[in-house]
Amino acid sequence: MELIKTINDMKVLSKAYSIEEETIGYVPTMGALHEGHLSLVDIAKKYSDKVILSIFVNPIQFSPKEDFKKYPRTLEGDLELSKIRGVDVVFYPSVDEMYPEGFKTDVQLKGISSKLCGKFRPNHFNGVTTVVLKLFNIINPKIAIFGEKDFQQLVITRKLVQDLNLDVEIVAAPIVRDSDGLAMSSRNIYLAPEERKSALSIFKSLKEAQDLVRNGLIDSSTILKRVRCIIENEPICNVQYASICSNETLDEIYTVNGSCRLAVAVLCGKTRLIDNIQLDPNEKTDR
Ligand code: AMP
Repeated sequence: MELIKTINDMKVLSKAYSIEEETIGYVPTMGALHEGHLSLVDIAKKYSDKVILSIFVNPIQFSPKEDFKKYPRTLEGDLELSKIRGVDVVFYPSVDEMYPEGFKTDVQLKGISSKLCGKFRPNHFNGVTTVVLKLFNIINPKIAIFGEKDFQQLVITRKLVQDLNLDVEIVAAPIVRDSDGLAMSSRNIYLAPEERKSALSIFKSLKEAQDLVRNGLIDSSTILKRVRCIIENEPICNVQYASICSNETLDEIYTVNGSCRLAVAVLCGKTRLIDNIQLDPNEKTDR
């Protein structure tokens, strides 16, 4: 497995793959790898000849008050896990490499970026679309794998690719959970044991909502009330938003007639957790 730190070296290798007609499957991450990230690697391996995984904690998607500085950085372990899982190249650029002095571009996707998480993290998705477009241009992948865990990010990336006619196919990967249901996240290490226990209410509420829909309840506001009630029954959990929305536009849906998403953000103590689940009155069992 190769470790590449400069944009130039990454471009040279990507060109070489292209000349050899070897397709690239790309997995963008911020590191502190866990089974959720590695499941994306498995998908990339299945559909491409070479797998490139990037590790970059992207400063421009954090607000000054957020956790950029304390975000977990575990390069040695990440390299080990990547190697074991069959990653061919880890791209690990520095902040200066990605944003040299004088960098001025801001890629903005209007509308979708200001919904859900965008309401609470105003410039977050501009940072995401800017770095994703840069990384796609550097790596030139045939496919890129994004987790449904960050559902809004997945939807935004799909739209970016469509709007800008990018030559990359976006593949969605299902959410990987711990055995107790908590969605895996690099930020879960911030949770004290009691907070982690309380955080289980999030998936519990999503599952209950899914069951309610399967049993014929289609009124979103009733479902959302139940979701909030289950989560906030845990004194340290505060719902930042709970939304039933379109899979494509993230527009609010008031009556659940077909497939849509229930998405939540929850403050569990000081840690912000996001999760989501598909709702579909016509689907009686899990996919
Ligand atoms: P991050 O390192 O948090 O930026 O995540 C990198 C990629 O891994 C994103 O596409 C995430 O959606 C995906 N990912 C993170 N956690 C999970 C999970 N529990 N299940 C599936 N994908 C995940």
